[in-house]
Amino acid sequence: MEESALRREDKKVVAVVGAGLVGALNACFFAKRGFEVEVFETREDIRKAKVVKGRSINLALSHRGRTALKHVGMEDKIVSKGIPMNARMIHSLSGKQSPIPYGKKGQYILSVDRANLNKELLTAAETYPNTKLNFDHKLQDWSAETGLMTFARPHGSKTQTQADLIVGCDGAFSAVRKQFLRRSRFNYSQTYIPHGYMELTMRPRNGEFAMKPNYLHIWPRNTFMMIALPNLDKTFTCTLFMPFEEFEKISTGDEVIEFFQKYFPDAIPLIGAATLRRDYFRLPAQAMVSVKCSPYHIGDKCVLMGDAAHAVVPFYGQGMNAGFEDCIVFDEIMNQFNEDFSAVLPEYSRVRVPDDHAIADLAMYNYVEVIQFLLHMLHMFFSNANI
Ligand code: FAD
Repeated sequence: MEESALRREDKKVVAVVGAGLVGALNACFFAKRGFEVEVFETREDIRKAKVVKGRSINLALSHRGRTALKHVGMEDKIVSKGIPMNARMIHSLSGKQSPIPYGKKGQYILSVDRANLNKELLTAAETYPNTKLNFDHKLQDWSAETGLMTFARPHGSKTQTQADLIVGCDGAFSAVRKQFLRRSRFNYSQTYIPHGYMELTMRPRNGEFAMKPNYLHIWPRNTFMMIALPNLDKTFTCTLFMPFEEFEKISTGDEVIEFFQKYFPDAIPLIGAATLRRDYFRLPAQAMVSVKCSPYHIGDKCVLMGDAAHAVVPFYGQGMNAGFEDCIVFDEIMNQFNEDFSAVLPEYSRVRVPDDHAIADLAMYNYVEVIQFLLHMLHMFFSNANI
């Protein structure tokens, strides 16, 4: 086993575990403060990888997330590559489209490419001379007493390193969080919802977007829902949310078309029947989990942020945004307590747990209510249209 001492020039060492969206952004926040930042990521460098595996292709970036990006000078860069969505566009069964604005005139959320956002944040983190990105490092275990971490490396080797603070940004199935589970008075709950999701691509038509681009398109259908967010290459990524048992009922190309004919007929020519028949079976539907826990810290040694602390179901579009906000809240508390980890960490848990739990509850509430609400709006549109 190889051992490396991280401490340089007497600066405190902060290890960020996970270089996903929240980890990469957090590395910038800590680097800006002058800590020696070491980022450890289980995957290879996605900027060099041929295929980037992961969840949803694009995401809705809202005010919360933008504010955090602004703190590290990244807002303009990311916003310039986002597509504004001013309203939801509700698709009725008959194909009629009705917009519901997100807010006042001029307000919008942005559709951003997950992989690009992650890559830009990694590059931003790397521009700080006090930051080192370590890819192909999978955290296996760590000690709350010493801060010693053990990583699995490719080809079966292991490496150990030590840090003053470990920041767990390693997502919904966090390895950092496992250590918390062994401790007394740590509360934890995890809920899988009965729905899964599947992503389908709607290609451009005659070189243009197949639907109006500045909208988040929604097809609400009782227990199903499909949404579509625009991408810069003029495609839309459609996400079909449906109970797993419904996904499993469809096993042939003909059944896919029959299903779309019944529930999303206007989407068939837009996605293309042949594409639908093929792409529906490309990947199995993915599960969605909601994780709540508290506290978010252990002593002055470790803190959880992003999905590692609060994975939420995606119906509120706030998972990443809330994770980005975690970074600002932590940063503000660092100012308040002069970077004294023994005071900052408990305060962070005290302040942040209730807010993140509220986001998780709102997301779950939206999961239950959103389809019913949108159907209701749809009925209202049509009854008004009849008057
Ligand atoms: P992750 O993105 O999961 O990153 C964790 C990182 O840690 C990964 O890079 C992983 O490889 C690494 N890692 C894991 N284990 C280890 C280990 N043992 N050692 C080292 N590294 C490790 N949010 C929004 O705000 N807006 C949206 O519109 C939105 N849409 C969504 C749609 C879908 C279908 C889904 C599923 C989620 C959506 N979300 C959305 C939520 C959003 O994807 C997450 O909240 C966000 O990705 C969390 O970022 P994270 O960095 O905390 O975790």
